[in-house]
Amino acid sequence: MNGRTILDVKDLSTHYFTSKGVVKALDDASFELKGGQSLGIAGESGCGKSTLAFSLLRMVQPPGRIVKGSIMLDGVDVAKFTEKEARKKLRWQKISMVFQGAMDIMTPVYTVGHQMMEPLYYHKGIKGKKGREICYRYLDMVDLDTDLFHRYPHELSGGQKQRVIIATALLMEPDVVIMDEPTTALDVVVEARIMNDLKRLKHELDNSMIFITHDLSILAEVSDNLAIMYAGWIVELGDASEIYKDPKHPYTQKLIAAIPRLHMDMDRLEYIPGAPPELTDPPSGCRFHPRCEHAFDRCMKEVPKEYDVDGVLVKCHLYAED
Ligand code: SF4
Repeated sequence: MNGRTILDVKDLSTHYFTSKGVVKALDDASFELKGGQSLGIAGESGCGKSTLAFSLLRMVQPPGRIVKGSIMLDGVDVAKFTEKEARKKLRWQKISMVFQGAMDIMTPVYTVGHQMMEPLYYHKGIKGKKGREICYRYLDMVDLDTDLFHRYPHELSGGQKQRVIIATALLMEPDVVIMDEPTTALDVVVEARIMNDLKRLKHELDNSMIFITHDLSILAEVSDNLAIMYAGWIVELGDASEIYKDPKHPYTQKLIAAIPRLHMDMDRLEYIPGAPPELTDPPSGCRFHPRCEHAFDRCMKEVPKEYDVDGVLVKCHLYAED
């Protein structure tokens, strides 16, 4: 599977049709994911990261819907799937997801094992000893004692619950696993351990992963490629270490400068003035222009194109040849 394009997303747009107007949560998102590769998606809250993930899983709830674009998964456009097809052929089998705050979604009245076996039975008809053995294997893979299979969620720590959820997302051997803020609400020590485990699993299992977080420093560790999102747009896309070392989009530059570092003068910590825009009425031209210190006339009038700058795609007028 390694090296082959597994996911090819083109011009994907998802809008929410609310009583206050149309929220353009995701506009014209395009990217590719190869087998065994990981893509990190970063940006402030409300920039469209989770909407993108829900769109890939075809789980956008009304009043939201995909209005444009394609999601080619192994050659099939899953954006055209009906709800029934998405349930039968896509979710958990092809793409699975560890949701934000996932450790709170376990049902308190069922054992861990019962909850892990459910997708196996529902999608593959596997139950009994065979199902148990598969669950044990994945519990072991995420560094958990197989004893936990028989316990109830309240008997587990936050870190253990999060690992169970990760094991469950991997059970069906999906092509793509989406991790939406997989370590939020965990302390830094547990967070570091889980991120190390995820790195190891990516190599062991050779499946593709999408990590979503507002914490860029975490993404730099686990991602091959990075997509930086602002106000529903992907504004920079390319090799993670290249973007981290030499960010090109003014928003990415600010985001990276805002990461606190050891030995830095904390009084000089960078921040981005202002707040993300209302997506019912985003700013004209470049959506970042009200907060951008490089903004010029054209930025207010014209939507920037994507420019290839040393192999990194940057949506900014600063890189226009003219
Ligand atoms: Fe700033 Fe203009 Fe580039 Fe937008 S297009 S990021 S406003 S310089």
